[in-house]
Amino acid sequence: MGARMLIRGGHILSMDPAIGDLPQGDILVEDGRIVAVAPTIAADDAEIVDAAGMIVTPGFADTHRHYWQTQLRGVVADWSLFDYVVLMRHGYCTSYDAEDAYIGNLAGALEALNAGVTTIVDHSHLQISEAHSDALVCGLKDSGVRGVFCYGMYENPKRDGDHIASTLVHSPVSDFHRANARRIRDTYFTGPDDLLQFGLASTEWSRLTETGPAVEEIRLLRELEPARISVHIGTGVNEQVRFVPALAAAGLLGDDLLFSHGAHLSDHDLDLLAAQGGWVSTTPDTELQMGMGFPVAARVARSGKEPSLGTDISSSVAGDLFSQMRMLLQVQRFRDYEAEGSLPLTRRRPARDMVRMATVGGAAAAGTGDRAGSLSPGKAADIVLIRTDSINMAPVNDPAAAIVFYANPSDVDSVFVAGRAVKRGGRLRGHDWPAIRTRLTASRDRIMARFARVETAGLMDDFRAAWARSVRPERTAA
Ligand SMILES: [Zn+2]
Repeated sequence: MGARMLIRGGHILSMDPAIGDLPQGDILVEDGRIVAVAPTIAADDAEIVDAAGMIVTPGFADTHRHYWQTQLRGVVADWSLFDYVVLMRHGYCTSYDAEDAYIGNLAGALEALNAGVTTIVDHSHLQISEAHSDALVCGLKDSGVRGVFCYGMYENPKRDGDHIASTLVHSPVSDFHRANARRIRDTYFTGPDDLLQFGLASTEWSRLTETGPAVEEIRLLRELEPARISVHIGTGVNEQVRFVPALAAAGLLGDDLLFSHGAHLSDHDLDLLAAQGGWVSTTPDTELQMGMGFPVAARVARSGKEPSLGTDISSSVAGDLFSQMRMLLQVQRFRDYEAEGSLPLTRRRPARDMVRMATVGGAAAAGTGDRAGSLSPGKAADIVLIRTDSINMAPVNDPAAAIVFYANPSDVDSVFVAGRAVKRGGRLRGHDWPAIRTRLTASRDRIMARFARVETAGLMDDFRAAWARSVRPERTAA
């Protein structure tokens, strides 16, 4: 095509050490790729995007979220992890039809793009039927986002009318999931050049009381050649089962593995991941809310591995990374100061670390580090322009601090994915948001009506005893 675009005059945070920051700089994009980043670039034939007065960053990467829950905003706001496992993963989950799955994923991915999140990892554990799976993939694909659709192997509870059979024990990967995941891969994914990649999400290992089935599962999942395998781990349930050393002993660790949460991974576990492969996504808001443990990111960084950030569930928190960067930085500072035991004399942990985690770190964990995560010549033009003239931003004295402590999605002026504008002038392009909102709200109404018929008290009782047996009060030292 030869389409050229010049993003001109912005304050560039390239996150590429060879380029650094340019207080005023230009980015030349050709055929969806960055070809040059410099203080001034002459390109008279290019379409000009005026970035004067804006901060220009790589697109952000959210490495752990369940996109299907978008229409349930606020439902989980006051819940514990126990409430979530019982009510969301049983009651609400079984109240979704395929249209609900589609619109939840589409709206969730658009929410991400609107906030400058251009790479996502969807840990998609709503694979109830073939129709649900088709809808979930199509919702993400129709959004235009980059990332990985991780088909969830978790055995969803069976609903018979309004009775739900609880899944108290671990279920191995079923024949249905093996066949359906393969069908989804072969139907919707062609290869490493796809904007959206095929991935898998494991069963819930927290239900396991030994490591053997998890080790076997990783072998099985790799037969499907997923770009990433997303695994919930280290959330405080059945912590005596140490999966990471078991995988290491079997020679199965690798950088196709993306572990989420992981607050209860030991430093030894993290060293194994750094040495043998395996990424970690921390989701500060939900981990702190639900008692999953202290966000692991600083310990991951200490192991030598890039940490990454996720939002987890928009049924509890917003789907942007500004709030996650802010939350993580301040709780980690608190933890550092607490360890010192007095008011600190030295400053620690700059805001810029968070921007790195949300860009370079996220892209590496999502498997798009060779294509995205920094504004580097040769990489895809996944670029975000953030206005600095709003009442919550002006005047900017430190752009990284502005991103972490002051910005919100309404400050995101423009978002490009592989050079394609998905947001310009503060508005999403190519999607009729009022129409999507109407579908999303109608879907919410249907889900709520179906959920209202579930006999939740009995479900809670079924779970309570098993839960008490599997949660240890001890905490892994941070
Ligand atoms: Zn999760």
